[in-house]
Amino acid sequence: MQYNTEAIVIKTVRYGETHAILTLLTPTGRVSAMARSAMKPTSRLAAGVRLCAQGTYFIYQGSGMGNIQQVEMVASRRRLHEDLQSAAYAAYFCDLVLSVAPDRPHGQPAMYRQFAAVLDALVERPKDADVLARVFETKMCHWLGVSPSWRECIRCGEPLTEKYRYHLVEGGFVCQKCYTVEDTNQSYAVPAALGKILYLFERTPIEQLGDVKISAASHKALKQTLYYQLVDFGGLYLKSRDILNQLVDAFDRKDGENG
Ligand SMILES: [Zn+2]
Repeated sequence: MQYNTEAIVIKTVRYGETHAILTLLTPTGRVSAMARSAMKPTSRLAAGVRLCAQGTYFIYQGSGMGNIQQVEMVASRRRLHEDLQSAAYAAYFCDLVLSVAPDRPHGQPAMYRQFAAVLDALVERPKDADVLARVFETKMCHWLGVSPSWRECIRCGEPLTEKYRYHLVEGGFVCQKCYTVEDTNQSYAVPAALGKILYLFERTPIEQLGDVKISAASHKALKQTLYYQLVDFGGLYLKSRDILNQLVDAFDRKDGENG
């Protein structure tokens, strides 16, 4: 049986001298397929096996793993491979999707569209990579089913106002009325804007988000909170995230020395 599907490459592993095994994200979920001889420079499939490449993939499905016969490219996203930072962000986004997306046909078209949108935004506005990472992580929490209601207290359900804290054990924000002294070591104070920012990131499609300005303090709290939410509640421990963080730290230090 042969079928074709729109897809984005989220993992590529060399197999033997010239073959590649790809994991593709399609609008209906993940699928693995073999791209024979794709590692030969002259191969028609060569461009279609790189991470973040998007196109229509024509797959012959026998009894085992499918074989990619042809790719009609929509976007190569070559720029994501041309600088180290963009490549590290792209690898992290691919890793998130790889860990969260269900196999075909159980996936959601919204995840596919938002993944394509975050990659396009990374190509167009590499300087916003940090904010894009937080937006995509917020959506990941939602898809994993580990998002609390970000604008309300997780204990009393009242809308959050000025002062509230992120609770490390309960995974959400606790208001001043509900917070007790016993919670001190299991929680930290966050900037008042955080709940609204998370709500906005969760609900707004990436292509509609435009230019987002958030303070350094909010960004730090956002990064920390999403980390706990994804690792402790979503179970997502990702090496690509550590690599990205080391790289971002190194670049920040270099900027500090120069400025
Ligand atoms: Zn409360």
